[in-house]
Amino acid sequence: MSENDEYISYLLSYIGETGNRVAFSKEETQAKIRLVNEMKKLGLDVYTDEAGNIYGLLYANNEKNDSDSMDVIGIGSHIDSVPGGGNFDGLVGILSGLAAIKTVKKEEIKENIAIIAFECEESSVFGKSCLGSKFISKQISIEKLRAITIVSSDFDDGFGLTYGEKLDECNKYLQLPLLNKIINFKTFYEPHIEQGPMLVDSNKKIGVISSIAAPIRVKFTLTGKGGHDGTVPMTSRRDALVGFNELYNIYRGLRHRMDINDRLRTNIGVVDIENASINRIPGKLSTTVSARGLDENLMNKFMEELISRVEVQLPDLNIEVHTERLEQGKPLNLNPKLVDKIRKNAEKYPTLEMWSGAGHDTVYMNKICKEGAAVFFIPNTGISHENSEYAKTEDITLACHILENLIKSE
Ligand SMILES: [Zn+2]
Repeated sequence: MSENDEYISYLLSYIGETGNRVAFSKEETQAKIRLVNEMKKLGLDVYTDEAGNIYGLLYANNEKNDSDSMDVIGIGSHIDSVPGGGNFDGLVGILSGLAAIKTVKKEEIKENIAIIAFECEESSVFGKSCLGSKFISKQISIEKLRAITIVSSDFDDGFGLTYGEKLDECNKYLQLPLLNKIINFKTFYEPHIEQGPMLVDSNKKIGVISSIAAPIRVKFTLTGKGGHDGTVPMTSRRDALVGFNELYNIYRGLRHRMDINDRLRTNIGVVDIENASINRIPGKLSTTVSARGLDENLMNKFMEELISRVEVQLPDLNIEVHTERLEQGKPLNLNPKLVDKIRKNAEKYPTLEMWSGAGHDTVYMNKICKEGAAVFFIPNTGISHENSEYAKTEDITLACHILENLIKSE
């Protein structure tokens, strides 16, 4: 085992041992405390910001930088995970950054480096994703961020219901100084596990990502009339599930007609029958449809056609439809020069050119980096957002080597 492998294994078990890191849970706070300890052991200057993101700063030429603003190369990913999630989604990007720092700090480096652990990338707790990086990239004000409320009572631990209240509670344990300087990001790199099977299936080690898909999400509420399943004659029913069946047929027909070569990834993620019961006619249900891909026109065309047909065909079945647009994402093409830099640094390993179907903090960091931001993948041998998620230490080490070379080439 190389020195790098050993350090990564140690970090994974030490920080991962805290358990499932749902944003602002006891376990996540514990993981943050341990991360801060490790950053300090490496000699990094550690800060937090008003959103709870953590920064470990390594100064160029190892000379402390006391100026009010500094240019940095950012490396990192999110510290939180989904409920029941694994130990690698997000964490790999932070830990591979620390391991790379451990190696490069032996030499003099020309640029300041910031290892960042983003807060609340997952939408599980607050129903919105990438909140830490949205704050850094000025996509959300601190007032709005602090006011966001938990989406489910599952996340009510008695220490507050809003982002602000939960963060204040976490900060009591963390006791970090607030970042006191302006950070100007030159670039940002995010190593991440692949969350699908393509690298493993093709036996490749590094996924070179040129674009990141963004979702369009729509919620439909279908209203018919509930009632006793034994007393209402079939001919006079207004069953919301019959409406859903019609919606699903429209969805399938559109998928069949529009999807060419996996360019459009769609999903019906929620089908929620109100007051569902074995002896009740479904009177009302809500369902969500999402479409992701790189072709914005195709995504829009799919969703527009779905909405217009659902809004015409379901009332014919005596089912009312209410449509709510939840998200209108835009796919992002990463800076080709930066992608090429990653490609060149990864060329001694088997690489796969791909796009990311999942969103990442990179999307928001890209908005503020002078030369753009980039994400690249290592294989995940299990399934992601599940406890069985797994990346081999030797593969995480490859991400470290790429980061080391990227830092040295600046
Ligand atoms: Zn992630």
